[in-house]
Amino acid sequence: MNIIILGPQGSGKGTQAELLAKKYGLDHFDAGHALRQISLLNTPLGRDVNEIVMVKKELVPSRLLKEVLHIRLNDLGREQGIVFDGVPRNLEQTIYFQEALREFGRKINRVIFIDISKEESLKRIGKRFSCEKCKEAVVLKASDKKFVCLKCGGKLVQRSDDTKEGIEKRLKIFEMETMPVIEYFEKEQLISKINGEQPEEKVFEEILKKLNL
Ligand code: AMP
Repeated sequence: MNIIILGPQGSGKGTQAELLAKKYGLDHFDAGHALRQISLLNTPLGRDVNEIVMVKKELVPSRLLKEVLHIRLNDLGREQGIVFDGVPRNLEQTIYFQEALREFGRKINRVIFIDISKEESLKRIGKRFSCEKCKEAVVLKASDKKFVCLKCGGKLVQRSDDTKEGIEKRLKIFEMETMPVIEYFEKEQLISKINGEQPEEKVFEEILKKLNL
């Protein structure tokens, strides 16, 4: 089973991909996470990726994503299902993504589009923090007064591309570049659209229904 989950920033695609991966033993390919890991490397590649992802807040060039994708597909057996989170994000990626999957004897079973409004996205990302020490993801509640991790006491920080200006820029990219991908998969009759402004469990339930699981 090869599933793609797409949605704007804060739609919960990462959370849903993780839930699916856990429940059905799928590999979770989180493109943003893979690229952030590379951006931590003190190498020419790491510095280049850091500049694009963290400073410019743009999409990394296709050749780079292609490389990351190939490494992952090569590492996994064909029978291992994958949930692709946040990829492909533009039409160019869609073409080589499909080619790469075909090359590795895979096909896309379904594309889940988790839809939320721009206002909801800005609201959610504004509350998204993580622990500097143990990396635990935390969504701040209105009642939270201290910016410390409940697990380890570490300091809670925002991702450096999660500033208001960063989110606005990434949402614009989603609208301009990723929405055409969703339209493309719609024509291929592969899209299932889910209202992402429902509770997390309800969204998951609907995804399972769309996947006939
Ligand atoms: P995300 O964690 O999904 O918000 O992604 C964080 C950042 O990683 C994005 O703003 C891009 O800079 C980069 N990125 C993630 N996925 C892709 C992709 N499919 N193509 C190019 N860049 C990506």
